[in-house]
Amino acid sequence: MTTEQSTAPAPEALTFKAEVQQVLHILAHSLYTDREIFLRELISNASDSLNRMQFEMLTNREVLDPEAELAIRVEADSEAKTITISDSGTGMTSDELVEHLGTIAQSSARAFVQQTQEGNKAAASEIIGQFGVGFYSVFMVADKVTVLSRSFRLEAEAALWESSGDATFQVGPGEREQRGTTITLQLKEDAAEFANSWRLEQIIKRHSDFVAFPIYSGDRQINQQKALWRRAPREVEAEQYQNLYRQLTLDADAPLLQLHLSTDVPVDMHSILFVPAKRERGLIERRIEGKVKLYSRKVLILEEAKDILPNYFRFVEGVVDSEDLPLNVSREAVQSAPVMQRIRKTLTSRLHRELNDLASQDAERFAAFWKEFGVFIKEGIATDYENRNELLKLLRFNSNRSSDELITLEQYKSRIVDGQTEIYYLLASSLEAGCTSPHLDPFTARGIEVLILHDIMDGFMLSGLRDYEGLKLRNVDEANLELPGSAEEAAPQVDDAAFARIAERAKAILGDKVKEVRASKLLRDSPARLVSDDDAMGREMQRIQQMLGREGEAAPRILELNPASGLIASLARRLESDADDTVTTAAIEQLYDNALLIEGLHQNPATMVPRIMKLLEAAARG
Ligand code: ADP
Ligand code: MG
Repeated sequence: MTTEQSTAPAPEALTFKAEVQQVLHILAHSLYTDREIFLRELISNASDSLNRMQFEMLTNREVLDPEAELAIRVEADSEAKTITISDSGTGMTSDELVEHLGTIAQSSARAFVQQTQEGNKAAASEIIGQFGVGFYSVFMVADKVTVLSRSFRLEAEAALWESSGDATFQVGPGEREQRGTTITLQLKEDAAEFANSWRLEQIIKRHSDFVAFPIYSGDRQINQQKALWRRAPREVEAEQYQNLYRQLTLDADAPLLQLHLSTDVPVDMHSILFVPAKRERGLIERRIEGKVKLYSRKVLILEEAKDILPNYFRFVEGVVDSEDLPLNVSREAVQSAPVMQRIRKTLTSRLHRELNDLASQDAERFAAFWKEFGVFIKEGIATDYENRNELLKLLRFNSNRSSDELITLEQYKSRIVDGQTEIYYLLASSLEAGCTSPHLDPFTARGIEVLILHDIMDGFMLSGLRDYEGLKLRNVDEANLELPGSAEEAAPQVDDAAFARIAERAKAILGDKVKEVRASKLLRDSPARLVSDDDAMGREMQRIQQMLGREGEAAPRILELNPASGLIASLARRLESDADDTVTTAAIEQLYDNALLIEGLHQNPATMVPRIMKLLEAAARG
């Protein structure tokens, strides 16, 4: 697409990018009942542009109409069936019109196109309702749209964009003195109801009440505008929080948690933060992570303030407003301002308090929180030492005692047995695998509880969780565990000499894959397990790398065989009559693979199939 001629006197006809045409087609043919959201989209664009203008003027007064009020105007003409939306924002040059209103830059809209391409027309209306597709949503209600705009840059000229929502649009010079943008919609016959001031006012109140700039209709201001976060929390109604949340996130569900914090000392800060109910909020995600907007003196400084909360709180959405932030500096400098540290500290500890209150007061809602966001709390354990105590209280675990009910570390501690000085945990590929792990044998026999960790993040979490209230954490696969208490001895099924032969044979078969093959002192029912005498932390980090596919084979471990196992005894007997017994070879290899599999360390389980076939054939032969 060439844009060189865009300053030529005659309007130029251009075609929309293919993906825009698709969106337009879908919009024009959607039987969408909630079409009013087109106004929300236009107002949000106007507000974005006013934000950019305001920010520009902090450092640059060489702009068109520096004194113009930053505002949005919405008018309806019921006779002509038109609506106009104007703003005194940055405006656009003709090149910018082509660039911004001829393609789809928004990733959500692109995803929308992909979704609907899969023929899913029915879902289209739902998706539009939830996420909007930005500017193009005007074509749900209009059959002709004009955009008359003039950039704030002094040398720029006014430009006019026009389209009927088919494959093309025109761009040419326009007549306009003031900075900003005016969008005129010629409404479709069946959308004439929108050319009504009262109806527009209703829609604005519903979707755009907290837009930070005044929205006028005639000479009346429609929106409340006063920042909700600057009010005293007791003056704010539950519904207003909901509205703010919906306007910030476009999430139709209510948030799981909200926090309104308004302080003057030690730092001036007004903030409303939300924890969404779900981590993923629908077919198309506006974003995977939350966003906290940063304002100072009502100016939006950062659309997405990265360092305002620790990284593991990146699911939190909301607004932070502080008069103490330096204004006339770059965005980078704002991020590193000393006051940011104070804000961060205050917000972080408040969020922790709120989450801990939720945990102690509303187990059910906290369980919902943990399900969605527990993984972030685990990340916090590994990365935020300062808030460790608060984070520890939030952790929830599966254990061999209560497999579906989650427990806290405090509960674990209250149930330790006589002489127990450590917290035992087991890493597994899944909860099911963990529950069948041979490592549990001696613990179950002694009535000792074991935490079952089966999330990829758990290994990472453990790097920050080496002890809890004086109890060390201990991986149950460590080679030289000394367990408290006692259990009835499991009687050996083979004599020492026969066991030595099978251990030796196993080492020969497995070679470098194992460090050693030895008799287990702890196993009771299970035939074999893998243990390690390497440092647990290094091993757990390596495990994460492996699960992420960044590292191959696990470091060799020690294979323990159980002399009390009937299977081991049978294999030993087979070896006695035939030192090269192929069934024993296959069985040893399979026992090793089984152990890897349960640990979640097997790189390619499909390779086991031929061997399993061989074993099945042998079993079938009897
Ligand atoms: P988004 O707002 O998510 O970027 P839209 O489709 O709503 O997507 O808008 C596309 C782009 O058009 C905006 O990013 C902006 O650059 C430009 N734009 C739209 N409306 C205006 C406006 N009123 N003033 C200035 N630029 C605008
Ligand atoms: Mg937009």
